[in-house]
Amino acid sequence: MTSPLQNDNIIYLDSNATSAVDPQVVEAMIPYLTDNWGNPSSLHIVGQRARKGLTKAREQVARLLGATPEEIIFTSCGTESDSTAIANAVAALPERKHIITSAVEHLAVLEACRALKSRGYRITEIGVDEQGRWDWEAYHAALDEDTALVAVMWANNETGVVFPVEEIAQEAKKVGALVHVDAVQVAGKMTIDMSQSCIDTLAISGHKFHAPKGVGALYVREGTPFTPFLRGGHQEKNRRAGTENMASIVGMGEAAEVALSYIADEETRIAALRDNLQQRLSEAIPEAVVLGAEAPRTPNTLNIAFPYIAEDAILQELSEYGICASSGSACNSRTLDPSHVLEAMGVPAHISNGSIRFSLSRFNTERDIDAVVSVLPGIIARLSTDTIAID
Ligand code: PLP
Repeated sequence: MTSPLQNDNIIYLDSNATSAVDPQVVEAMIPYLTDNWGNPSSLHIVGQRARKGLTKAREQVARLLGATPEEIIFTSCGTESDSTAIANAVAALPERKHIITSAVEHLAVLEACRALKSRGYRITEIGVDEQGRWDWEAYHAALDEDTALVAVMWANNETGVVFPVEEIAQEAKKVGALVHVDAVQVAGKMTIDMSQSCIDTLAISGHKFHAPKGVGALYVREGTPFTPFLRGGHQEKNRRAGTENMASIVGMGEAAEVALSYIADEETRIAALRDNLQQRLSEAIPEAVVLGAEAPRTPNTLNIAFPYIAEDAILQELSEYGICASSGSACNSRTLDPSHVLEAMGVPAHISNGSIRFSLSRFNTERDIDAVVSVLPGIIARLSTDTIAID
């Protein structure tokens, strides 16, 4: 495995924000920017070369999801896949006016659901406990015959906490609701088998599993009513108009194939690296709090908080050592808003304000963990002294 990080002096632990493009993926993409640059809708030879790449990529992504190629629609990103699925459910069950989601969703789902309030929809945001776990009681109380859609994430981007989406979907089916799952932080990290599932639609995004940015996919179970979100040309069997982003689609297909071959490794080796980082930091910094530690989590994510210390200061110091991590969600990291995820978990501000997310990928090694453990305790000790001096 050639690592995209090996010639760089950085330690990249921010793969939930975006992951390094795998050199093998780049190699697969290049012909689609050079020789095979055609439009896959064209009937001539140049178009047909592109079409071959599209067909192969669809098969590769379908295999990653345990789906059939016909159930895969290529999109531009996870956000588009989420928006498409939510709009689709509303169109499929127009007489129903209730949508259930969770309080800890990525904004791609949360804002798309909230926007429906202005069209008369009731939106229920199911809460979580202090570990980020699904509130079953609230869910059972909310589900009713008016529910058109249950839209939930499989794994949380900030904490890695995994929701029991299959059980959630089974309950939704009892009232005839459609179920959309945002699997953006699961694809390529954990096994997905849609052939054994009752979930109707599922969103994934290429750049979270070593494909480039600007490509995603929406799984739509065979037989699920479907209304296109983007209308126009006949691409994707009339389900998503717009000339296909061929090189990126081919890259996502390749990334899916590689991910499938590494999933067992990701679920054991990466989890061991994450657990090692968690344990060594907890020992070296006893006041540290691991958020979501008691809940099932994706193997690659550690959200660890240092009370009374500003996360920006920690991140800046880490960055001076070439260590890239993140504070909460990457989408929020340029705003001063507190994380809605940590708020929903009831994490007090003096803890959540010092929370750092480390998110690993298969390109990380023990060396990266050693580097963090060798500098972070010193950074925290220094910043604690600064805080006391200011007080
Ligand atoms: N859903 C989750 C859980 C995410 O983490 C993200 C991105 O961080 C998205 C959706 C949006 O994906 P994209 O960046 O491809 O639009």
